[in-house]
Amino acid sequence: MGEEVKKKRPAPDPNSAKYKLGQIAAKAYSDCMEAKARGEMVGWCASNFPVEIPETLGLSVCYPENQAAAIAARGGGERMCSESEGDGYSNDLCAYARVSLAYMKLKDAPEQNMPMPDFVLCCNNICNCMIKWYENIARELDIPMIMIDIPFNPDYEVSDAETEYIRAQFWGAIHQLEKITGKKWSDERYKEVMEISGRSSRAWLAATSCAKYLPSPFNGFDLLNHMAVMVTARGKKEAAEAMETLLKEYEDNHEKGDSTYHGEEKYRIMFEGIACWPWLRVTSTGLKSRGINMVTTIYADAFGFIYDDFDGMCRAYARVPNAMNLELSRDKRIKLCKDNHVEGLLVHTNRSCKLWSGFMAEMSRQIGRACDIPVVSFDGDQADPRNFSEAQYDTRVQGLMEIMEANKGGRSDGNR
Ligand code: SF4
Repeated sequence: MGEEVKKKRPAPDPNSAKYKLGQIAAKAYSDCMEAKARGEMVGWCASNFPVEIPETLGLSVCYPENQAAAIAARGGGERMCSESEGDGYSNDLCAYARVSLAYMKLKDAPEQNMPMPDFVLCCNNICNCMIKWYENIARELDIPMIMIDIPFNPDYEVSDAETEYIRAQFWGAIHQLEKITGKKWSDERYKEVMEISGRSSRAWLAATSCAKYLPSPFNGFDLLNHMAVMVTARGKKEAAEAMETLLKEYEDNHEKGDSTYHGEEKYRIMFEGIACWPWLRVTSTGLKSRGINMVTTIYADAFGFIYDDFDGMCRAYARVPNAMNLELSRDKRIKLCKDNHVEGLLVHTNRSCKLWSGFMAEMSRQIGRACDIPVVSFDGDQADPRNFSEAQYDTRVQGLMEIMEANKGGRSDGNR
């Protein structure tokens, strides 16, 4: 056998959105490491906590959910989950929490390190599991926890009473952080941050909406990678610029008939739920090999926040996916399916995320009916690889493809 000749990968284009977004995502961690090394206080922050607050105050924060996703995607999910289970945490707890609690104890994960926190910023607009997870960190490390309570909203709009309740807590958090860190709030700086965050969000949402084109100018799995910047850096100028580059690339792709989805786009689906990070390649290949492009997911759009003032910010954080009622959640997804010409819905029943998956059975039934598209679901987990079956996934995706094929009037792959 001759020696294997390895193909050299072309050097990444430093002007491309992919390169810029990758750099920003990595810098989010290195900036925090450097801040800690300089002796500054560093926080751990929930992904749907209003990042405009620490950003305006000039505080360095990192994101345990993002870290857990990175650890899981790079193969460390089972090791970290098992570590927490060995300490008595139930296997039923969210895997992000188990990974994070293990990291709190070990203080090291080769897949993705980040500095230990001096305070934690928690917000339950995402789930109530997070309160206990962050309380544990605060208690174990003997550090302050700033908690914002954003109640589940049964209405379509955010009422004045709810806005007032949230506004008071946002100011409470700002004053607590000023006291803990010695940093000062500046209205002028807040205005800048708000504008940058709006720029990032508008460009991001416009980029994801390019899936309206036939074929889509991107592979939907790209969004799962790029969204890390929306989680960790949406209030930073370089993030806004990179998102604008991404939008331009997608528009250019459309003009040129190009796409980052290589191959023929035979079917277009919406993916529901958090990605299976430990099985990203398998879940992606299972679609790609059948000509299926996952063109849209509410998970990516969830990190675009558009508002004009402080009260608008309060309302925006009360309209995130897990804080919304079933009807509003359903209608947002129906709009995504219709705008993006979706032909099928693939639902990840995520063992970690009971809140998200709990009402998905009924919601997906209603979406399927309203959009006249087939719906299939598979069992999985965002960070614990033990809760996923490759064979089950494959069977469900095959079934979905066969129904989409039949709906197009063609023959299923199995009959060829
Ligand atoms: S994955 Fe679900 S349960 Fe886990 S932190 Fe996020 S919202 Fe909460």
